[in-house]
Amino acid sequence: MKIHRDDILAWLKAYANLIAEKKEFLTDLDAAIGDADHGINMNRGFQAVMKKVDELSTQNIGAILKTVGMTLLSTVGGAGGPLYATFFLQAGMKTTGKMELTLAEWVTALDAAVNGVQMRGKAELGDKTMIDALVPAIQALQTAQENGASLQEALQQCAHAAEEGMKATIPLVARKGRASYLGERSAGHQDPGATSSYYLLQTAADIWGS
Ligand code: ADP
Ligand code: MG
Repeated sequence: MKIHRDDILAWLKAYANLIAEKKEFLTDLDAAIGDADHGINMNRGFQAVMKKVDELSTQNIGAILKTVGMTLLSTVGGAGGPLYATFFLQAGMKTTGKMELTLAEWVTALDAAVNGVQMRGKAELGDKTMIDALVPAIQALQTAQENGASLQEALQQCAHAAEEGMKATIPLVARKGRASYLGERSAGHQDPGATSSYYLLQTAADIWGS
């Protein structure tokens, strides 16, 4: 089982739809500990990506992911925009010229994506950011692959770890981004970026794992 270029496009479309559906929810999460724009930001970025779908549909996976990154960079402001842009640009660098990916190649791409976000944002695990969903997710994906899991199983375990990481942000005190300005008052709220990151990996599991 491999991830074909068309699967990448289907993932991006499904994610854009999910973000549109969850726009208010993500913005409500950001209202509690930020500036109430995460859903609006992500939706703006992924609607801009959707406008390029025809152009993307003839490209290889690396080119698609790089275009997504550049589109997010030019349409999404704030902290989240450049971080998601980095995610896709780094994944694109590892998939240059490829029309399909094995599980091992997806592990390599996701690892580079998550490392890129970490390098750019300098957040550690437990700082109450998207890193709290992404790092456990790549670790679970790597472990699954090493244990010989199927693509479906590996993607499910990856999404499950992201979900657990997202939920684990609730009691945390934010140490990065706008939410950190609230100090102790940021505790008791789920991080919006960790939530949108979980959605990204859950969508991959739903779309590629069926
Ligand atoms: P802004 O905070 O500029 O309004 P968004 O609301 O779009 O941008 O995104 C906020 C999300 O960005 C947070 O919930 C958090 O997950 C993520 N974030 C903020 N700063 C960092 C960072 N330094 N590293 C990783 N993620 C971060
Ligand atoms: Mg915000």
